[in-house]
Amino acid sequence: MKFGGTSVEDAAAIMRAATIVQSRVAEQPVVVVSAMAKVTDQLVACANAAGNGDREGALGIARGLRERHYTAASELLGTGVFTQFHSELEGEFDALDELLRGIAAVGELTPRTTDNVLSFGERISSKLVTAAFSARGLNASLVDARQCIVTDDRHTRATPLFDEINDALAEYVRPLLERGRVPVMGGFIGATQDGTPTTIGRGGSDFSAAIVGAGIGAGRIEIWTDVDGMKTTDPNLCPDARRIKVISFDEAAELAYFGAKVLHPATLLPAIQKNIPVLVLNSRNPKNEGTRIVARAPGCKNPFKAIAAKKRITIVDVVATRMLGAHGFLKAIFEVFDRHRCAVDVVSTSEVSVSLTVDSNEAIPAIAADLGKLAEVKYEGRKAIVCLVGENIRGTRGVAAKVFSAISDVNVRMISQGASEINITFVIEEDDVPQVVQRLHSTFFAEADPAVFD
Ligand code: ADP
Ligand code: ASP
Ligand code: MG
Repeated sequence: MKFGGTSVEDAAAIMRAATIVQSRVAEQPVVVVSAMAKVTDQLVACANAAGNGDREGALGIARGLRERHYTAASELLGTGVFTQFHSELEGEFDALDELLRGIAAVGELTPRTTDNVLSFGERISSKLVTAAFSARGLNASLVDARQCIVTDDRHTRATPLFDEINDALAEYVRPLLERGRVPVMGGFIGATQDGTPTTIGRGGSDFSAAIVGAGIGAGRIEIWTDVDGMKTTDPNLCPDARRIKVISFDEAAELAYFGAKVLHPATLLPAIQKNIPVLVLNSRNPKNEGTRIVARAPGCKNPFKAIAAKKRITIVDVVATRMLGAHGFLKAIFEVFDRHRCAVDVVSTSEVSVSLTVDSNEAIPAIAADLGKLAEVKYEGRKAIVCLVGENIRGTRGVAAKVFSAISDVNVRMISQGASEINITFVIEEDDVPQVVQRLHSTFFAEADPAVFD
């Protein structure tokens, strides 16, 4: 059971989470928690301030975080327990201050120290949630995620090492379950084999929960968040987005990958490997059935299950005048991206040119310089990928025509359909996202199959 930031954002939210866990206690849950809502953002701000030498700024933000956690703890715990727990929290926040002072003194922030700062969010929330659960009669036991989620040392987006993790789960989590305890662990964070804290990418607590669920062979993985499950599109863009009752692993994975923030893109990989159903549920409305993500979803009358959009995309156009007709051109291009460890999302090719999209990041000028040795290169940021996902695309005639005629006045820069057979993906200007998504949503979901959508 994974509780996201808003599901542990304050004392009231943590009490709701306790009640939800209580209702499942016979099924031997393991609990994974995020940092309290917005805490990771504030820790990023802290780390950056310290890295810029702004010691007081960094310590000021940390002071706010300290107060917020003390307040929640005092509301959740009886006076006796609070006094004891307060000194434990104090130790953590003193260590954070110490770290920030160190960073400010050096005036330099490395990915490694960033991870150390960020790890405090989940380190502290998991302690607080464990204490609060115990105060509510749950046999909760804290598990240090840094002992269980073993990763490589690619700081800020470390890759989990599954064999090591499964050994650690067998050592630290399974015995607790056997003793009838409820293990509670922070998501998002891990550590290298030598114990240096790492993080697995923003929004990564979903992924942590799936790794743990797959590692212990759980019957299901529950992602508790602040909406009634996965919706037909981002409810912030379309308030009338419908709840998807059931969706396949493949469809949900495409949606997560192409921007549906409700699930971290990697979440479904461990679940697919072990065929464990994933449920997306609302901690503010636990009676709602949410979304069930399973290997095979039932048939659906609509061609699509949902629309996702991913902003902050850069298009890279590579034109191969010099290598016209030569083989090995694509290989040479992809080797450049590989060397820079940069993932490519959408690709479209012609005889002499290749267009690709990548997440906007600092490495693009360096990549373009390397590509420039092979061909002519142009790149342009502020683009967005829009992705319509559904297994019915395969068999439905005229779907693409319907998509593009609904947005016929929009400048579409790239189109891709086919690779996974379950999505139609195209690239537009970032500013066009709201109107494009709204128009497509009203085109395809005005009538929604009641067997699949709510
Ligand atoms: P948590 O802190 O629980 O991990 P997130 O903020 O990461 O929660 O994800 C939940 C949010 O994802 C929702 O509040 C919603 O605004 C956003 N979201 C984007 N696309 C979708 C979608 N297709 N379905 C549901 N929520 C979505
Ligand atoms: N706290 C982390 C973040 O905000 C991880 C998560 O919430 O999933 O990115
Ligand atoms: Mg999230």
